[in-house]
Amino acid sequence: MKVVIIGGGAGGLSTASNIRKYDEDAEITVITRDEHIAYSPCAIPYVLSGDVGCFDDIIMHQPEDYLERDIMVITRAEVLEVSSENNKIRYQSLDSLENDGSEDAEKPVKELYYDYLVIATGGAPFIPPMEGADLEGVFKIRTIKDGAKIKEWAEKSHKAIVVGAGLIGLEIAYGLKNLGLEVTVTEMMPQIVPRSLDPSMATLVQKYMEKKGINFILGQAIDKISGKERVEGAVFGDEEREADMVILATGVRPETKLAKMAGAELGRWAIVVNEKMQTSVPNIYAVGDCVEVYDAITGHNTQSPLGSTAVRQAKIAAKNMVGIDAAFRPVLNSMVSKIGALEFGAVGLTKTAALQNGLKVISGQKRALTKARYYPGAKRIDVKMTTTLDGKIIGCQIIAEERVAERVDTMSLVIAQGITCNELVNMEFSYAPPVSMVIDPIILAAEDACEKLKRLNGD
Ligand SMILES: Cc1cc2nc3c(=O)[nH]c(=O)nc-3n(C[C@H](O)[C@H](O)[C@H](O)COP(=O)(O)OP(=O)(O)OC[C@H]3O[C@@H](n4cnc5c(N)ncnc54)[C@H](O)[C@@H]3O)c2cc1C
Repeated sequence: MKVVIIGGGAGGLSTASNIRKYDEDAEITVITRDEHIAYSPCAIPYVLSGDVGCFDDIIMHQPEDYLERDIMVITRAEVLEVSSENNKIRYQSLDSLENDGSEDAEKPVKELYYDYLVIATGGAPFIPPMEGADLEGVFKIRTIKDGAKIKEWAEKSHKAIVVGAGLIGLEIAYGLKNLGLEVTVTEMMPQIVPRSLDPSMATLVQKYMEKKGINFILGQAIDKISGKERVEGAVFGDEEREADMVILATGVRPETKLAKMAGAELGRWAIVVNEKMQTSVPNIYAVGDCVEVYDAITGHNTQSPLGSTAVRQAKIAAKNMVGIDAAFRPVLNSMVSKIGALEFGAVGLTKTAALQNGLKVISGQKRALTKARYYPGAKRIDVKMTTTLDGKIIGCQIIAEERVAERVDTMSLVIAQGITCNELVNMEFSYAPPVSMVIDPIILAAEDACEKLKRLNGD
């Protein structure tokens, strides 16, 4: 079996490793435009913040490591064409293109045959069409190279503007603040992290970041980036803010060009795949940021641009390619992040998103502590839960200075199992004063939801 994988990110390389796990004989080739492979883009903000020593630390493997497992990784090569009629791709080395005129530049475009093709082309940063976006000192953030360029520029800068208050924007903002810059985050929505947090929870994260000295301009789109050759500032309506760097953390657009060329169906957001991760061309699979997924609560197709999703999809695609039946389930988009000491995470729908989707919901919310009140080091924790009017839990948001990820994962199980707030309050949680509360904050939020539902139903 000959498998060609386009993309050396989380989706592509995990697919390669998983195929090898199940099939010793498969001929596997991975092709990527990038120079570096097998690194964690998720860790870039933490290199900026100084929590991780340097960019080399976040590279987990080299092409030679894959070769040891008989997986050929071709770096700095661009796949130009997919021909699904004769199962071939055409690719060209980027180095030969850059050395135009040299002997290398004469090299013909190479061709590879595949039995199965995996499109794991990820996404490209979305750059809003605005004046000044091409000035020196304006950065996108996607690859380790982007991260290194940002760090180098930041080290000789004083003021940064981060456009976009999603997870990546906030993490980068904190990283830049730790590098000693004056940082302003701007967001066109009236709150930060609009995709994952309700306004009441987002405010808590914003306040924490403001205490750390980060400024916010919310509900205001940036009109233009000003400057002649280099960035000098950004304009918002009547206001202009000075800056010597601008980071555009304005989202990701799936890379679907090759899939389209192969004749694969594209949906509203990205490449359409079935639960086996097959595109509409049966021997072409697709995984990662370039595909669209189904939302487990709304049933609508959506995006899940998360490394965790890409890796899970890779496992499913690999299994199906080697003949093991496996299905990728609709997503709950569970996420977690850490800014300084503050962790925040969410799974399922916020109350706002549920209402926007036409669902009738209420929310239960509670502030509590992460361990017994008297125990040294107990931290404040905020939990907000979204439930339907029959009590089914469909979302949860958690903010605290410890143990957020575990609780988000617990709630991911709760939601996936269709558990109601009435059922949750009767569940058994462990307790010891140094590590937990005798009644877990999750239960307290569920109790609050139950009370609200009782009042609503006039019980
Ligand atoms: C700063 C940052 C922080 C993040 N934090 C988190 C986090 O905390 N948790 C989380 O779950 N996710 C996080 N993510 C998202 C996560 O990194 C992505 O979801 C994940 O990398 C997607 O993997 P992928 O394989 O689909 O795409 P990518 O990693 O983008 O890989 C795509 C690959 O395709 C290659 N490619 C594309 N077109 C071609 C072509 N024509 N020819 C050859 N090669 C091609 C590219 O070179 C690249 O190697 C973060 C992302 C960023 C940028």
